[in-house]
Amino acid sequence: MAVILTAKEIFSKGKEEIKREVEKIKREGYTPGLAAIITCDDPIDLETAKFFVSKKREDCNEVDIYFEVHEVYKFDKEVMEMELLNLIERLNKRDDISGILIQKPLASFLDEDRIFLHLDPTKDVDGLTPYNKGKLATKYDFDKDLLPCTASGIVELLSYYNIRVEGLDAIIVGRSDLVGRPLRLLLEDMDATVTCLHRKSPKVLDKISEADMIVCAAGRPPELYDKQSFKLYGDMVKEGCIVINVGIRVHPTTKKMYFDVDFDSVSKKASYITPNLGSVGLMTRLRLLKNMLIASRLQLEKVKP
Ligand code: NAP
Repeated sequence: MAVILTAKEIFSKGKEEIKREVEKIKREGYTPGLAAIITCDDPIDLETAKFFVSKKREDCNEVDIYFEVHEVYKFDKEVMEMELLNLIERLNKRDDISGILIQKPLASFLDEDRIFLHLDPTKDVDGLTPYNKGKLATKYDFDKDLLPCTASGIVELLSYYNIRVEGLDAIIVGRSDLVGRPLRLLLEDMDATVTCLHRKSPKVLDKISEADMIVCAAGRPPELYDKQSFKLYGDMVKEGCIVINVGIRVHPTTKKMYFDVDFDSVSKKASYITPNLGSVGLMTRLRLLKNMLIASRLQLEKVKP
């Protein structure tokens, strides 16, 4: 039987700790604030983004971090990028905003590089600006730098369960800046041998069937996508592998959630597996709160008289 990697306990303990830290920062004269921005143009992306942002709002409310959301997707396509850049400029300058999160995925027509170049790296709580990406690719402090939330959250989860990845062959399905790439770097630094798969990768099934660890972050479940869909089933993996599900998509009308991993079949063969809910999502949210503390301390330094 696989060990189920639930994150409920670490999440609730972590939040209590964060709340105490937020109180400390407040006593020092600063109230942390998070601004989330939604830009999606695709209905499934938008529903999924709204779900993630609603959870972030809940968490901020719980630990007394000020929260606001900007629904930039409501602007016309022609002016959206300019409106977004202006908004980022305003948020960069606001002392009461310590973290800015541009919820991924962005609308497909936006120039992502240009947008993240505009974002103040000290407020980049998703670790997506060139500066923070560079840190991760060169030298970083896991506890002090603004690292991408999901990738860092997965590393924390592995460590919580004392799972060593040293010497393992790991496959990540997905190579995005948000999940696949940063996780590859972090796992490589833990001495795993990591391959990121994408839509043009050859022999996907062969590679997955040989892997000791599989992280699924494609976000194209066959229930929602006819083409280039991905789902991990038990007959695709080897006995005893470690399986981490990241992919989650929300149907725009039914609000039903779909995942990258077929938990029932995969859990019969895996040694460790994340439940589709209550694991990576919680670890991502916890790291975001931790990043908010890091960003708030940086902001506090700036505003101190
Ligand atoms: P993304 O930017 O769309 O990237 C998806 C990656 O998967 C791309 O590299 C893509 O390949 C690859 N891919 C897509 N279909 C594939 C297929 N059939 N075979 C092989 N590779 C495939 O998405 P993301 O931002 O990384 O997010 C991925 C998923 O994780 C989404 O469902 C998202 O909602 C979820 N997510 C969950 C959490 C959480 O807290 N639980 C946090 C972050 C993300 P190409 O590069 O070739 O396009």
